[in-house]
Amino acid sequence: MSDRPVTAANPPEVDRVAASRAAVAARRARAGVKAEVAASRRSPLDVLRVAYEEPEGVEGRLRVTEFLTSIPAIGATKSARIMQDLEISTSKRLGGLGRLQRRRLREFIAEWVAAHGGTGDRLVVLAGPTAVGKGTVAGYIRQHHPEVRLSVSATTRAPRPGEVEGESYYFVDDAEFDRMVEAGELLEWATVHNAYRYGTPRKPVEQAIAAGQSVLLEIDIQGARSVRRAMPDATLVFLLPPSWDELVRRLVGRGTETAAEQQRRLETAKVELAAVDEFDHQVVNHDVGEAAQKVVDLMRPRKGRR
Ligand code: 5GP
Repeated sequence: MSDRPVTAANPPEVDRVAASRAAVAARRARAGVKAEVAASRRSPLDVLRVAYEEPEGVEGRLRVTEFLTSIPAIGATKSARIMQDLEISTSKRLGGLGRLQRRRLREFIAEWVAAHGGTGDRLVVLAGPTAVGKGTVAGYIRQHHPEVRLSVSATTRAPRPGEVEGESYYFVDDAEFDRMVEAGELLEWATVHNAYRYGTPRKPVEQAIAAGQSVLLEIDIQGARSVRRAMPDATLVFLLPPSWDELVRRLVGRGTETAAEQQRRLETAKVELAAVDEFDHQVVNHDVGEAAQKVVDLMRPRKGRR
């Protein structure tokens, strides 16, 4: 035991021991993450997802250089060059990266994963705030790009005029939705606008990806986050309105909701717009055809679109 006075700079022995034990445990946990990536048991994109969500967690405290060199085929020299290209200083940890650096690093790693056999752009999620026109863009793709497989969701809401069972949605009651959730048949699901439940049937998506086909999911933002958790290699696309005023105009102009419902959806849209940074790509919906083309282009093999 030391008999120096206990100050902030000189904590009691017992605290020092606890701190050094915690540091050893944290180092060990970080080494575990690196080993999993090195053995290809964990996607580097999943490590990034967790690091960005919890900057002070195990993944967040990993240095960028340690993270990069844990990826098979990236050595110290390559890692240094990548960091220079991405303008990230050598001392940075994943959780300490700024907004732009996060985006650049994720884009780089997504390219890398796609080039090394990941699902990459085969699972593309189109999300965005309410009334931005996701449904219209998805409908346009369904009509003009028959080569794109669009996932058909299950929902507890009633069909609107013109909607077709098995094409627009699978319309199910609450009991059937409960059953699907319990049986693990949904890749993700969410209650949207505090009203009805919507979910993506897992099987068709997994079958398509296994067969090397691309699938597009048009879902809400909570759903996009769940997909990222379940399938970290998925590409997330955020559809943006040309402006806030335009979003309000579209929501009110649609005339399908009551005034109270419109207000509620606008509140949701404000919160949802703030999620844009979590997405890999942004597409502004100036024109439906153009926006649809951009989404379809993102579903093509990366080499072909450069
Ligand atoms: P609507 O009732 O207007 O067809 O859709 C309402 C919202 O539900 C839209 O934002 C749409 O993207 C979302 N949605 C549709 N299918 C799914 C799904 O399978 N999962 C999730 N999370 N959201 C969905």
